[in-house]
Amino acid sequence: MKLIALDLDGTLINRDSSISERTRQYLQHLADSGRWISLVTGRPYEEARGLMERNGILPSAGFPHYLICEERDIYSLIDKNHYKPWEPRNSELFAAELALLPEGNAIAQRLAREHRLRFFMNNLVFQERRGFVEIVFPTRDEAREGLMRAAEWAEAAGLKAIRNNRGLALRHMQVGKLPALRVLVEHLGIAPDEVLVMGDSHNDLAMLTAGFQAATTANADPELKAAVLEAGGCVSFQNASDGVAEVLQRVFQL
Ligand SMILES: [Mg+2]
Repeated sequence: MKLIALDLDGTLINRDSSISERTRQYLQHLADSGRWISLVTGRPYEEARGLMERNGILPSAGFPHYLICEERDIYSLIDKNHYKPWEPRNSELFAAELALLPEGNAIAQRLAREHRLRFFMNNLVFQERRGFVEIVFPTRDEAREGLMRAAEWAEAAGLKAIRNNRGLALRHMQVGKLPALRVLVEHLGIAPDEVLVMGDSHNDLAMLTAGFQAATTANADPELKAAVLEAGGCVSFQNASDGVAEVLQRVFQL
C-alpha cells in the first residue's frame, strides 16, 4: 500500500475536531516509512490546515503529503515547510466551476418552485468564494429527494449533484473527491490496489467504490458501510479517528 487517502470529518477527525493520538502516531510512522498520505475533504484549504495544526500536525511532520480540498483543489507539501497549489490546474478548474454558477442557481430555484422543497443555500458571496452552489435541507430525507430531483437537471447543465448528509452541492462534472484522487494517483504512478481510501459519507461513495482498497468507520452512514463491504473493503468497530487507527493497524499490521 503506497497511498493512504483519508476523508477528514467523521473519518480522520472526531466530532470534537480531535485526531486520536494513536492515529497520529500510526500516520507519522507510515509517513516515515515512505507511504504517502493525502487528505480528501470538502473543506477549504485554510480549514483543513487549521484542523491539522490544532492536532499538532505541522508541515514539519512531513505529512499529509497531499491535500485535496473543496473536493477539487490539490496541494503538495513542499520541503517540509509549506503547501503548494497545483497550478494552473486548480485555478482552471475553479474558473470552470465558477462559470456554471448560474446553472446551479437555476436548479436550486426549480427544486423550490416545482417540488416545493425547503432549504437554505449559500449566498452569492460564498458561491463566488468557493465556486459552487450548496443547498442544505432540513432533513436527510429531503436531501435524498433533492438529489433524486436535481441529478438529471444537473447532468444536462454540465454539473453533478453531490450529497453529503443534509447537504447537496452542485459541482462541475470534473470536480469531486474521486476525480481529484484519480489525478493524484496518476501523478504518483501507482496502481489502484496500492491506494487505501477511507471515508464515512455520501460524498465519499464514488472513491470508495472505484477499485481502490476501501475502508470505513463504525460511525459511517449504513449505505456507505454496505457499499464498502460489497467492494471487498472493511468496516472498523470504532468510530472516526479511532476507527482509522484500527484499519491502519489491520492493513499495515502495526
Ligand atoms: Mg466525512
